[in-house]
Amino acid sequence: MHIHDVLVVGAGPCGLAVAARLREHTPSATFTDDEHQRYHWIRKHGRKINVKNYRTNVDSFDSAKRHAPRQEHNNIDMLVLDADGGDWMTKWKKLFRSFEIDYLRSPMFFHIDPADRDALLGYTHENARDGELQPLSGCVGRETSKHRKKKKRHATGRVAQGGADVDERDRKDYFTPSSSLFDSHCREVVERYSLAENIVRKEVVQNIEYDTLAAFEDTDTESGVSEQSSFSDEPKVFRIKTDNGFRFARIVILAVGAGNAPSVPRICGLPYSAPHAGYCHAMQLGRFPPKHVMTKIANRVPSYLLIVGGGLTSVQLADLAIKRGVEKVWLLMRGALKVKYFDVDLEWVGKFRNVNQAAFWSADSDEERWEMLMKARNGGSITPRYKKILDAHVTRGRISLHTHTTIENLGWDPSSRTWDSVATSTELPLPAIDYIVFATGVKSDITSTPYLQHLQDMYAVDVVGGLPCLNDDLMWCDDVPLFVTGRLAGLRLGPGAPNLVGARVGAERIAWNVTDILERRRKMSGIISDTIETGQDGDLVDFVSGRNNRFHILDNQSG
Ligand SMILES: Cc1cc2nc3c(=O)[nH]c(=O)nc-3n(C[C@H](O)[C@H](O)[C@H](O)COP(=O)(O)OP(=O)(O)OC[C@H]3O[C@@H](n4cnc5c(N)ncnc54)[C@H](O)[C@@H]3O)c2cc1C
Repeated sequence: MHIHDVLVVGAGPCGLAVAARLREHTPSATFTDDEHQRYHWIRKHGRKINVKNYRTNVDSFDSAKRHAPRQEHNNIDMLVLDADGGDWMTKWKKLFRSFEIDYLRSPMFFHIDPADRDALLGYTHENARDGELQPLSGCVGRETSKHRKKKKRHATGRVAQGGADVDERDRKDYFTPSSSLFDSHCREVVERYSLAENIVRKEVVQNIEYDTLAAFEDTDTESGVSEQSSFSDEPKVFRIKTDNGFRFARIVILAVGAGNAPSVPRICGLPYSAPHAGYCHAMQLGRFPPKHVMTKIANRVPSYLLIVGGGLTSVQLADLAIKRGVEKVWLLMRGALKVKYFDVDLEWVGKFRNVNQAAFWSADSDEERWEMLMKARNGGSITPRYKKILDAHVTRGRISLHTHTTIENLGWDPSSRTWDSVATSTELPLPAIDYIVFATGVKSDITSTPYLQHLQDMYAVDVVGGLPCLNDDLMWCDDVPLFVTGRLAGLRLGPGAPNLVGARVGAERIAWNVTDILERRRKMSGIISDTIETGQDGDLVDFVSGRNNRFHILDNQSG
């Protein structure tokens, strides 16, 4: 039986951010640029030159020390499991490919690189890929008063966010990277932190237990060998059941995105035996449009699609369907059409973000935090760029947009492979529809996440709005070292949790505690291999955690 130090569930952006952060020595969030530069310089060049210690007058490094091989990354034994593939970002890439998304929605400081807040921007300039940045026009600019903003909003009923929330000096951040630029940067992070080799496995996690090794004695492991006696001193560990057997780990990090499978709304007449020839959820999109619709297009027979949802995905798919030859798309939204730059309000991203985050963290209860989350995200929205695309299709009669409208009843005719009756709340006159896509998002609710049920039974945590009330270290609870990042950590990370910014902040908060726990366990049992580098990084931990000052590090490195 092999016990990994850390097992990460999910190889999406959040999983990658946390894995990379566990291998980064100098955390971006806690160091200024100057400190970063100085520290990196000393690490890289400090051993090549002699620096006299001012007190002892002794050279900093003797030649044996200078030429000793250095370990670039700490060697935490880490395994990553992902339901979608055996490589990083498989699901992300699949979705971006099938929706043909050429640019991200988020700004330049939304990325997964732990080294530096401006890492994506730096990567772009370094590789001369500035041409792959798209400006977020109208987002940055002169200060607008609250009154003017309100007036403008009422007059146009359009973009709900004025430029006032972003300082002119931050303009460089307010571009969106092309999808391929973002992918290249992620790849660079994977390589820089040696995360490419055999770390990610395609396995679906089905259950997570946390108990003593004795309780897991009966486990059939890959090798067929049961527990090794040398592990008997080990405190509790995790046993993770996957579709490929059992895995063991001291620490588990959940980076599973929404956590739940996508589900379509309950509608009278909609058969729930998925997959169905007549509909799908956007997150489970296969060939698009499906084969029977493509046959119609090839035979020049008009085809009709119905897309449900008020977010960016619904408009992206409507646009794609038309580009691929669908005659007309009906777009149904249960609320109003909202236009926003990002899916979280600009005030949580721009210059007032600290004020808002502080209010979020100091809220009295998780219920209050949940309310703030809901208000900040406020359902689905589309970007100004896609609003223009949508308007053009509406003008040409290729998209019919219906807000405040829901489907009430459906009837599928298997012989014609169409929905021959579609009743809506606004009694729309609709032709026979060939295909329906539900771009209705995915609800997170850990009370119905199958692989968390055992943990919930044994170590119950409070749940608000479907999200776990984690401790402040993003841990399931003080006694269970299961960390949670991404959307499921929303009650601790704030409205940016489901996005790339949440990935980086979550990784930062988790990493300190992971190294602490592993170190503690190593000291306690004496049987865990020395996985955490001490010395310089021990000093670093002391500094960042406020136990020492940074001159102590410099002094130690030169003396
Ligand atoms: C089309 C689209 C475009 C987006 N664009 C942006 C953008 O531009 N900027 C932005 O900030 N955000 C964007 N988002 C939001 C985006 O989802 C997040 O930024 C990001 O994907 C969150 O990463 P994650 O790792 O938390 O989740 P995910 O990307 O969903 O990854 C979770 C991973 O966990 C795995 N997993 C889940 N359950 C299990 C299990 N039981 N066993 C094993 N593995 C499991 C999944 O296979 C998946 O690979 C976009 C979302 C979509 C759908």
